[in-house]
Amino acid sequence: MKYALLDRGDSHSQQLAKRFHQLAADKGFALSPKSPEIVISIGGDGTLLHAFHTFMDQLYDVAFVGVHTGHLGFYADWRANELDELVEMMATAEPKRIMYPLAQIDLETSEGPARYLALNEFTLKGVDGTLVAQININDEIFEMFRGDGIVISTPTGSTAYNKSVGGAVIHPSIPSLQIAEIASINNRVYRTLGSSVILPQHHHCDIISKKEQRLVLNIDHLNIQRDDIRSIRCKVSTDQICFARYRPFPFWNRVREAFLGYEENRNGLSADQQ
Ligand code: NAP
Repeated sequence: MKYALLDRGDSHSQQLAKRFHQLAADKGFALSPKSPEIVISIGGDGTLLHAFHTFMDQLYDVAFVGVHTGHLGFYADWRANELDELVEMMATAEPKRIMYPLAQIDLETSEGPARYLALNEFTLKGVDGTLVAQININDEIFEMFRGDGIVISTPTGSTAYNKSVGGAVIHPSIPSLQIAEIASINNRVYRTLGSSVILPQHHHCDIISKKEQRLVLNIDHLNIQRDDIRSIRCKVSTDQICFARYRPFPFWNRVREAFLGYEENRNGLSADQQ
């Protein structure tokens, strides 16, 4: 098996990375940073976002596995003390390949088009204050937004920034995008829907910002500032990210453990609860 490994860079993650390399060498795995079959991310969900963007051009060829060194993650679901078990399973078991939807963001700029993929979300804010933008859904005007910003999240990103702004948590088997508002201005003059909106796979939305507005775009952890964006189109990508699941860990259990704190014995869960 050919693998690549990214760690968060802190000493605990680096120690675990070293241990993983030793265990992997014992099993005959080959370290292949450029063309791996499996990408191991050691750190947290943030580390997995970095791993995703590093291998974004090889999504058809790689599967991701996340090990967390802090609290339970949504993408990083192996504990630090389970490294031996993980490597043993990688050597002996055939993983279930779980595919998760991604967001595609197409920018129309004065320099031409630019395309991005997001695993968690795309966020748009104004640099100089209130964001003013027209939101179209399927080429029809939907609303004029005024406020701090807009978060457009994937289902797996729905537990991240989206949740902090009151968006719903979406199961990743539903290919969709959620548009959530950040502090919209609502009064007798300005009006937005006020609740988040969930678009199915075959719909798209366009954001047309006020001319020459300086914008901050966040694609997951990446930060981009531009003042030449004419429009932004968001839709569910035809690309997906693949996770190698060596044991089941259903999404709703992850949500419960991450936000409500209840843990349970993971043994005995059937794979179809995934
Ligand atoms: P960060 O600010 O260092 O960490 C943001 C936090 O979000 C970390 O605790 C991270 O978990 C967690 N996280 C990431 N993806 C998640 C997911 N899918 N579900 C639940 N929690 C998740 O930034 P970062 O590590 O570079 O991550 C970038 C992400 O931060 C963005 O994609 C955005 O979702 C999130 N963010 C959230 C807010 C907010 O909630 N107000 C504001 C800005 C950005 P780990 O500790 O396991 O890495």
